[in-house]
Amino acid sequence: MGTDGAATLVIQGGTLIDGAGNAPVANDTLVIQGNRIRAIGKLPAGIDPGDRKKVRVIDAAGKWIMPGLIDAHTHLSYGNPKLPGEARGRGTTRPELNAIRAAWNAQKCLRAGVTAISVPGGSWFTDVAVRDAIRLGLVEGPRVFAAGRMIATYGSIEDEDPSWVGTPDHSLGVLCNSADEMVREVRRQAKHGVDLIKMADSRSGDTQCISRAEMRAVVEEAHRRNLRVAIHSRGAGSTRDAALAGLDWIIHADLCGDGELETVAEAGVPVMPTATFVERLLTWGREVGQDVVQIDLTHIEARMEKMARMLHKLRALGITVLCGTDSGNYAWMPYGELHGNEPDILVRYGGYTPLEAISCCTRNNALAVGLENDLGVLAAGRLADVLVLDADPVADISVLKGGKHVVTVIKDGKIVDLERLALRPDSLKFEEDAGRRTRAA
Ligand SMILES: [Zn+2]
Repeated sequence: MGTDGAATLVIQGGTLIDGAGNAPVANDTLVIQGNRIRAIGKLPAGIDPGDRKKVRVIDAAGKWIMPGLIDAHTHLSYGNPKLPGEARGRGTTRPELNAIRAAWNAQKCLRAGVTAISVPGGSWFTDVAVRDAIRLGLVEGPRVFAAGRMIATYGSIEDEDPSWVGTPDHSLGVLCNSADEMVREVRRQAKHGVDLIKMADSRSGDTQCISRAEMRAVVEEAHRRNLRVAIHSRGAGSTRDAALAGLDWIIHADLCGDGELETVAEAGVPVMPTATFVERLLTWGREVGQDVVQIDLTHIEARMEKMARMLHKLRALGITVLCGTDSGNYAWMPYGELHGNEPDILVRYGGYTPLEAISCCTRNNALAVGLENDLGVLAAGRLADVLVLDADPVADISVLKGGKHVVTVIKDGKIVDLERLALRPDSLKFEEDAGRRTRAA
């Protein structure tokens, strides 16, 4: 069922953007039965929109219909809420509270029109728990494709403590300093139900922390267990080797050269630039001042320029681009607000057309949630994650930002109740302590 009691949901009128990159068309009817799209265009025989007991009709006249947004880079389980009167701790030292908070934040994502997220790294197995709670219907939220803690070596991002401390259980990385240790960790995480293995090269790509042979070992083990593998990789060596080792996608790749991107293109490996994070760092840094951010803003401006050049290069090389924002990475990367920023950046900085950018955050991103060929495109037989917008994202891609123009969200064939005020993105703001240092880009 899933359509508020009615067996069939019919969206009538409006302009349909299919996510596959085709030109928008006038929508006659889009029919949803159960959790799938039954038909687009003609009304199938036996369905009577006038039968309000069996059919629920959404009038989309003057509106736009598109696939649910997918954010392929959102962290639900970083940090902690700040508790009044309590000193700030480091790391996620309260996993039980943090799991409840993660479930809360997942609902904010959904209400912003994000019907699926990929979580490339988290604390404990919180994201696996949130994924399963959503699947069971205990809480509302997007589809979740979850990694656990990142596989790190000495010097990787998320290896933040001295060697005699290592990576305690509450941290976001797991030290694995050999291929054997990495394979063991892949097996441990598989046992705990992850979908995705996240590897972690150096924070800024200046040194390569994981060898190609180690990446190959992880990919072989993960793929045998039907898990996907992604890597935080910014520099030349790790980006080239990630492509050659057969990783499923590369996150960032913003500080490597054209030669490495050509290798990535030849290998057919998608790239997730995560430009939203860099742009947000810049805008937030200008807002609060660089003393608060603790980063030289001219340095971030240079990073954004390099990012823009890379986006153009990705497009020229025909590399599949995935859209991820890094929401939840820090307290200033709030849930529900930034998920539509990446397609806007692709258009403004990268030379992408709005239709291309929409496909990046719908069709392309389906890969990052393990549902390629089943999600991210509006077509008969596909999963029914659908948005209705009151503004045209092809005329102005920025209308996707912040979920402000989303009037209807359908996830898995069910209409999400956007009027439940307690669950709107801007409600119940508690102070977040992301539990990470601001040293970021
Ligand atoms: Zn991230």
